[in-house]
Amino acid sequence: MITGKNYIGNQLKAEGTTTHKTVNPKLNTQNSTPFYQATLNEVNEAVALADSAFKVYRNIPGEQRAAFLNAIADEILALDTELTDMYMSESGLPEGRAQGERGRTIGQLRAFADLILKDEWRNVTIDEAIPTRQPLPKSDIRKTSIPIGPVVVFAASNFPLAFSTAGGDTASALASGCPVIVKSHAMHSGTGELVASAIIKAAEKTGMPNGVFSNITGSGRVVGTALVKHPKVKAVGFTGSIAGGRALYNLAAERNEPIPVFAEMGSINPVIVMPNVIEKKSAETATTYAGSITVGTGQFCTNPGLLLTLAGDKTDAFIKDLAEKTVAIAPQCMLHPNIKDGFVSNGKIVTSQPGVEIVGQITNNIEANFAASTICTVSGSDFLTNPKMHTEVFGPFSLVVKAKDQAELVEVIDSLEGQLTGTVLAEKEDFTELPVIADALQAKVGRIIFNGVPTGVEVCESMTHGGPYPASSDARFTAVGLGAIKRWIRPFSFQDWPTELLPTELRN
Ligand code: NAP
Repeated sequence: MITGKNYIGNQLKAEGTTTHKTVNPKLNTQNSTPFYQATLNEVNEAVALADSAFKVYRNIPGEQRAAFLNAIADEILALDTELTDMYMSESGLPEGRAQGERGRTIGQLRAFADLILKDEWRNVTIDEAIPTRQPLPKSDIRKTSIPIGPVVVFAASNFPLAFSTAGGDTASALASGCPVIVKSHAMHSGTGELVASAIIKAAEKTGMPNGVFSNITGSGRVVGTALVKHPKVKAVGFTGSIAGGRALYNLAAERNEPIPVFAEMGSINPVIVMPNVIEKKSAETATTYAGSITVGTGQFCTNPGLLLTLAGDKTDAFIKDLAEKTVAIAPQCMLHPNIKDGFVSNGKIVTSQPGVEIVGQITNNIEANFAASTICTVSGSDFLTNPKMHTEVFGPFSLVVKAKDQAELVEVIDSLEGQLTGTVLAEKEDFTELPVIADALQAKVGRIIFNGVPTGVEVCESMTHGGPYPASSDARFTAVGLGAIKRWIRPFSFQDWPTELLPTELRN
């Protein structure tokens, strides 16, 4: 049962009077529940509770924190269709996606629960004392990793479950021993409140301290700004726009005590289509990529927004085929009217640049929040002179760049900003060219893919979901996979500390 209130620790509260409603983008109507924006008093209360919970939570053994994470997964499952119906009504995404994303959310929680049953994630190192060392004896020094403190997580608009209230940022932070305050996304506040209720139930059932989790509603920047500026907050996790991530990064840097902001932002994910693929696999590549460009209405951070090829007649035929296959896929609903507005306005920025030609675009009348998939093309030389063509068009949109030769293709890669992924489509005959291309891509991206699509991010130990700015604010960390826990910990050394007082992972 949705209340529209904030979870300040385990209490539902609504002191304020400012409300907003979520939108059903398919029906283009507002949903009925008003959600109360948290007051600054409520923000302060949530952070104070998180700060006092941290003193207890950071020392709770791994098995108990794991039980908490598994209980969250159980409680989310117990919400059953109430959750998936709410998800669909606030996002326009279909039932299969709701179930798939719920499965991924639960899988992430359980994976982090398994991880913290043992202490290997703490990267323990032990340097034993050498009392006889000359000219000075060597101390016994032992290093572990400890949680950083209360973490603020900004829920993502494009993953109402897997990158939101109990998503990867929350799961990894809670696993590390950090309390979490979620700034709920105003587009899916109902989904957020339901998941928050599951986390609070799980915390109570497993005996976690009050304040280990809060869920705060807000829109219009006020609540998010107050959270990032609060002196007791020690780190921030964010997925969203470059402007939003950068604003929060700057706010955090301007504090008396600057704190890390792990922001995952924009990416156009270049795909290099080598000549022998155009020669031998043109039709199947066009089919695969029409699917990848339009999957989830293109609203993925790994969407292939940029294809790079060599100019030629066969390339033109490939682009025409790709455009026809893309627009033949029925238009789908976007997450929210604001996302649709961004899709249209950013799309216009790219397509109105000199030299850009629209090769395929859905033009028939489509419903209000549905997306007109678009494929356009430009020459390598025009692309190289105009950074506006690098704009992320969040949705089913791809720009195909035709370079005059391999050297220009590499120049185009060199001109790009940081990206989450780079993909190479190649046949054996193209291999001699690949080292130079792979080298150029490595300087720009966090993950490189061979003969596949960038959409679809596996949650596993070896995954890197991050990349040079602006793909993420710190390319040394991943937002997906078990390595995500490293964002919320810091190294800590004990010198000559009595064995019986050491944490268990540091004892002999
Ligand atoms: P957003 O505008 O970046 O907002 C995300 C969250 O950050 C919201 O909670 C928002 O709070 C907060 N925020 C943003 N700017 C802030 C500021 N200056 N100060 C304080 N808080 C701030 O992203 P969005 O609403 O999810 O989507 C907008 C666009 O972002 C999309 O159309 C798309 O282009 C891009 N996007 C990209 C990705 C990706 O993975 N590449 C993912 C999602 C979105 P308020 O609600 O209070 O404003």
